[in-house]
Amino acid sequence: MIEEKGILFILSGPSGVGKGTVRKALFEQSTDLKYSISMTTREPREGERDGVDYFFKTREEFEKLIGEGQLIEHAEYVGNYYGTPKQYVQQTLDEGKDVFLEIEVQGALKVRENFPEGVFIFLIPPSLEELKDRIVNRGTETEEKVKNRLSAAKEEIEMMDAYDYVVVNDQVDSAVHKVQSIVLSEHCKRERVAHEYKKALEADQS
Ligand code: 5GP
Repeated sequence: MIEEKGILFILSGPSGVGKGTVRKALFEQSTDLKYSISMTTREPREGERDGVDYFFKTREEFEKLIGEGQLIEHAEYVGNYYGTPKQYVQQTLDEGKDVFLEIEVQGALKVRENFPEGVFIFLIPPSLEELKDRIVNRGTETEEKVKNRLSAAKEEIEMMDAYDYVVVNDQVDSAVHKVQSIVLSEHCKRERVAHEYKKALEADQS
């Protein structure tokens, strides 16, 4: 293996787009990616297990983790905290393994600040495209509705600017396949491979 450090992949996107479904389907297939289990203060849902789906924490415990700087990012989403543990991510990347985060958009923006070299994947609903068509082609909606839809669609599209890849979640299998292709492409990137080759050669000369 030439590459030394692992690559951090971040899957994010608007709420309700199906990030969790795509992530679960991805990890059901064999993958070398390591999923970073998030911390949350929300109640476990039926069938969810502590340390598997999430690390379930009380608000006090979570706030302590924030205070101790143990999270790469955290966000409040529908009244609960969610956050990414720093130690697991850093240690796993240092071991040369790829880490995969599935988080909401505010958190992803914060990760971008600290890990600009991460690979950011934005999952969008297929209806966004339909929505655009509707906004542009129909003439039947009230001006107010068109305006609201346009501004919602614009906000979602503007969020894409912070990402490296966009995957349309039209079908789960196809979205998973696209994510796998992104992972493969990133490993083939010239600068990543060339850099490691050069380092290996330099080390040999010393
Ligand atoms: P749920 O409660 O449905 O499992 O997740 C709610 C939202 O929180 C989803 O959009 C999910 O991607 C996001 N989420 C899960 N873990 C994290 C995390 O560690 N940080 C952030 N910022 N969002 C997260």
